[in-house]
Amino acid sequence: MKMNEIFEKLEEMQQELINFTIEMNRIKAVNPAFGGEGEEKRAEWLEGKLKEICDEVHRYDTVDENGLKRPNLIGIIYGENRERTIWFIGHMDTVPEGDLELWNHDPYDPILKDGKIYGRGTLDDGQAIVSSYFAAKAILSSGYRPKYNIGLAYVADEEAGSRYGAAFLMDKGIFKQNDLVVVPDSGNEDGSFIEIAEKSAAWLKITTIGKQTHASIPHTGINAHKAGMKFALAVDEFLHRKYDARDETFEPPESTFEITKKEKNVDNINTIPGTDIIYFDFRVLPQYNIDDVISDVKEIANEYEDKERVKINVDIVQKSQAAPPTDVNSEIVQKLIKAIKELRGIEARPGGVGGGTVAAFFRRMGVPAVVWMTADEVEHQPNEFCRIKNCIEDAKVFIYLAMN
Ligand SMILES: [Zn+2]
Repeated sequence: MKMNEIFEKLEEMQQELINFTIEMNRIKAVNPAFGGEGEEKRAEWLEGKLKEICDEVHRYDTVDENGLKRPNLIGIIYGENRERTIWFIGHMDTVPEGDLELWNHDPYDPILKDGKIYGRGTLDDGQAIVSSYFAAKAILSSGYRPKYNIGLAYVADEEAGSRYGAAFLMDKGIFKQNDLVVVPDSGNEDGSFIEIAEKSAAWLKITTIGKQTHASIPHTGINAHKAGMKFALAVDEFLHRKYDARDETFEPPESTFEITKKEKNVDNINTIPGTDIIYFDFRVLPQYNIDDVISDVKEIANEYEDKERVKINVDIVQKSQAAPPTDVNSEIVQKLIKAIKELRGIEARPGGVGGGTVAAFFRRMGVPAVVWMTADEVEHQPNEFCRIKNCIEDAKVFIYLAMN
């Protein structure tokens, strides 16, 4: 009965939830690693919101390599039993909007249409913040207390590796071994997928240096763009062939090796580029060592330096070896499966994905963590949106977890 009462209260809050989502996402918080302003303004706004409902609010700020303040917010709502905390971890930073031409609306002035709120960051990871915040608020507004403490951790820097976010918080004594951790930062359309394992990941910057010249006399220079492409395709081919294991618990089941960003080279068509810069994004099944993959890339680089008479620099922008997976039989996984079964009548399936989330930091610490939300896969895309229905229904699952 308690639960239905809380669910009703939550549904009454729908308009407030919509306003919250729109207001929060209007405050830009693009990760500075991608040229953004960072999380500070959004954090100030959110801190005010946390103070309205939490028994304790703490800020853990740090300063990044460019002198920018990087805030982290911790809100605690006391439970009947204060020995343990169920954590909901959301990140405040977003990726940039990308090509504005592809958006139907201003990405930083969110609009509501057909039950969806469109805007950069509304889903990733705005939905996590909104659904966890309103789960807690609905419990309190109904006059109840959660079974254990609810911890709301809204962190910085997830999109660029979490150095100033989750990684920074890990040694502060905030999280305890027997706490429960939910990271609503990826999921599928009906909420039937629970992420308990991640792949290792690496981002590499490849700089190929040749010799610039006029395009009509190529023999007087060395085409860095052409050499860079040949090298990239050789890497692509080699890695897919060598690291070809499949593990069906992962989606997708194989390691991925993608050539992604390309930096602008010359301004005019009749110049042969002397420098060429591209990037790789690798997501590798946990059974492989990410350092072996990187050594292979360096070896192929040596080979192509000789073959193409260029210099190839391989720089590691970011790398992480996969954390040990969360045990399927751990309390949080089993509780979440039960919640989804009771509230939605579906059997949720635990498995692995390629995207790194903050769950890895908890898993390395020996704290079982699940990544779960209900979401269309529109993260990082133009016209990103969150469904109001998903915010509400996910909040119900969080209420279930906190009350049982
Ligand atoms: Zn995210």
